[in-house]
Amino acid sequence: MGEFKHKHSLGQNFLKDKGVLAKIIDSVDVKEDDLIIEVGPGQGALTKFLKLFKANLRCFEVDTRVKKYLDSFEDEKTKVIYNDFMKVDLEEETNDINYKDLYVIANLPYYITTPIIEKMISSPLNVKAMVLMVQNEVADRLSAKPGSKDYGAITVYLNYYYNVEKLFFVHRSAFDPAPNVDSAVIKLSKKDSELELKDKELFFKLVQDSFKMKRKNIRSNLKGYDLDKIAKVLESYGLDLTVRAESITLQCFVDMANELSK
Ligand code: SAM
Repeated sequence: MGEFKHKHSLGQNFLKDKGVLAKIIDSVDVKEDDLIIEVGPGQGALTKFLKLFKANLRCFEVDTRVKKYLDSFEDEKTKVIYNDFMKVDLEEETNDINYKDLYVIANLPYYITTPIIEKMISSPLNVKAMVLMVQNEVADRLSAKPGSKDYGAITVYLNYYYNVEKLFFVHRSAFDPAPNVDSAVIKLSKKDSELELKDKELFFKLVQDSFKMKRKNIRSNLKGYDLDKIAKVLESYGLDLTVRAESITLQCFVDMANELSK
């Protein structure tokens, strides 16, 4: 790594454990006519392994200092775009490629984990699967089941679109420099069909509001809503208004939103 001065503010912890890199690659079945988006290639540790798929590859890196490490990866199928991933227009950056399925595979800069996932969810591009290195606690939150303390609004929101799986734990020593948190790799696989929602915006607001104050029950958090309708749906699940959001399943939230938009 020589003289390179890692920028902590950009989440620059580079993966050095080849076993972890190999496991990331093994978790997806990318074909040559697919497209992979990599966020934050850094010095190319993961990029090198992603190239083995021989698929189309678009890497987005904000730090131009790593250009000298990445130049040799570029060819007719691989391009590195030096820009802030949060600012790029993904459709524009990929519309020159004729691809079949789209994958996002990345060792994420942790300070923007949620914005990156949200950007992909709301993007018009149809992502088949994402394999992401995230902070271990975030992996637990995103893959939590109802009833667990880690289950939150983002869990419900994400589960609407994706099946979320925690693949494996990664110790901090797998990185250079070692961060002060452990990590985990998660896989988000797009669901074949989404649950039917009459009003998506209402659903997302309802979920957000339900978790507003973690220790409060649904009656308190959803004061401004039609509580009779909500109680009716909860009853069909054997619950009442004293329940907390952390115990409510995705399907129940969907039913509540559909009942409210009747
Ligand atoms: N992929 C490399 C690896 O596995 O070793 C580096 C991963 S490192 C955890 C995160 C990378 O994201 C860094 O290279 C950092 O410069 C880059 N990065 C940080 N913020 C970014 C942003 N807004 N847009 C694109 N890349 C960003």
